[in-house]
Amino acid sequence: MRVDVVTIFPEYLAPLDLSLIGRARAAGILDVAVHDLRTWTSDVHRTVDDTPYGGGPGMVMRPEPWGEALDAVASPDGSPGSEPPHLVVPSPAGVPFTQPLAHALAGESRLIFACGRYEGIDQRVLDYAAERMPVTEVSLGDYVLFGGEVAVLVILEAVVRLLPGVLGNADSLVEESHADGLLEAPVYTKPAQWRDLPVPEVLRSGDHGKIARWRRDQSLLRTAGRRPDLLPALPPQALDKRDRAT
Ligand code: SAM
Repeated sequence: MRVDVVTIFPEYLAPLDLSLIGRARAAGILDVAVHDLRTWTSDVHRTVDDTPYGGGPGMVMRPEPWGEALDAVASPDGSPGSEPPHLVVPSPAGVPFTQPLAHALAGESRLIFACGRYEGIDQRVLDYAAERMPVTEVSLGDYVLFGGEVAVLVILEAVVRLLPGVLGNADSLVEESHADGLLEAPVYTKPAQWRDLPVPEVLRSGDHGKIARWRRDQSLLRTAGRRPDLLPALPPQALDKRDRAT
């Protein structure tokens, strides 16, 4: 997968060199380029923002540098029939970021992230891009961040771990929270007794059938207790008779 990030704070993306994302880059699974939006300014102050039309507080990111940046970064890679990249724009007004969206983005060969700052990017940049490539505005949640850079780190963590070869044990992806629409059961490791708290007996029983049933029950109970909104979204076949009894 090729990822381009356009931002006025390239150094905010430094964590993309670390940990499993850094390893995926070193292994050639992921190719990341971070671009400074100010490269595409033409005035001495390298201005990227201006006052909003219609008045109001704050500043808005000007369309010219964004237009030139996206023209340059999105230009076709030259290979015949190459797909246009998918432009992802973090925004509190976007669609909620979810595991299904992470899976959809993990299926793309090229992603471009446009990091907004101030009051956001002039809407015409997105309208223009949408005529040339898929554009998705993505929200991390119902709150407002300073800028899109942290959102890009979050989105990329969720997307990159889904790429084949990134996780050592691909079973982790099947069993974790949101993979099947439920929250994962609680997890434990050694020692079997810590302070006055033992690991649940069933997990030490060696009975794989009982362990699977316990984990399933815990997963259902946790989801019902913490995220009841997830249950109506499950397809009917996701729950069997025993699940319903739990
Ligand atoms: N004026 C905008 C609004 O009310 O919708 C908020 C702008 S915010 C201060 C600046 C930038 O931070 C946004 O352009 C976006 O890139 C990013 N951002 C803020 N909150 C976000 C969220 N919940 N999800 C994703 N990106 C967010």
